[in-house]
Amino acid sequence: MGSKGFTLWLTGLSGAGKTTLAALLATELGARGVNVEVLDGDEVRTNLSKGLGFSKDDRDTNIRRIGYVCRLLSRNGVGAISAAISPYREVRDEVGRAIEGDGAEFIEVFVKCPIAVLAERDVKGLYKKALAGEIAAFTGVSDPYEEPLSPAVIVHTDQESVETSVRVITRELEQRGLIPEAYADKLQNEEFGLCAALES
Ligand code: ADP
Repeated sequence: MGSKGFTLWLTGLSGAGKTTLAALLATELGARGVNVEVLDGDEVRTNLSKGLGFSKDDRDTNIRRIGYVCRLLSRNGVGAISAAISPYREVRDEVGRAIEGDGAEFIEVFVKCPIAVLAERDVKGLYKKALAGEIAAFTGVSDPYEEPLSPAVIVHTDQESVETSVRVITRELEQRGLIPEAYADKLQNEEFGLCAALES
């Protein structure tokens, strides 16, 4: 348990909750003994992808680089978590196929939130600028976002708490046998099993 690597690929609009969820997931999985690494889009753009812009080509290059690192990590037993907008379906799928081709699992998570809520929340103050036409090629406003067609998980961050979103994602990983069950759940299940055994 825990030795099979995987990539958790969080995709969604700016401010939808990718960075928040990635950080909480890293803490949660770390506490369960899983080796994890987070690749955050904003951070990668300051080092590995420094100098890249926001044209389709540059965005695709950025995602291929993040995907490549996730692939190296995943095939060596690490749980890699990508938190990048990754607006284009084709390159997301390409990354997924490469990771799966190496025998690791690729779990696409759509971090979904309506643009009206994001513009209202505007955690980074970017929507206000984008809607005023001050940022060219801003995803969801003046640049495309292609929703995943069949993501493994969808979290609705306008409707659920961060704890619920984390739980929904960790449950998917548990069901795939990629991470151990949460300790509280394990105890509850064992207790249930014991009660059932005593009753029979
Ligand atoms: P992104 O990385 O997608 O650009 P951030 O994680 O930086 O987004 O910001 C998301 C914001 O939404 C945070 O302020 C966070 O507290 C809030 N939020 C509310 N509900 C959720 C949820 N269920 N999941 C993630 N973030 C949420």
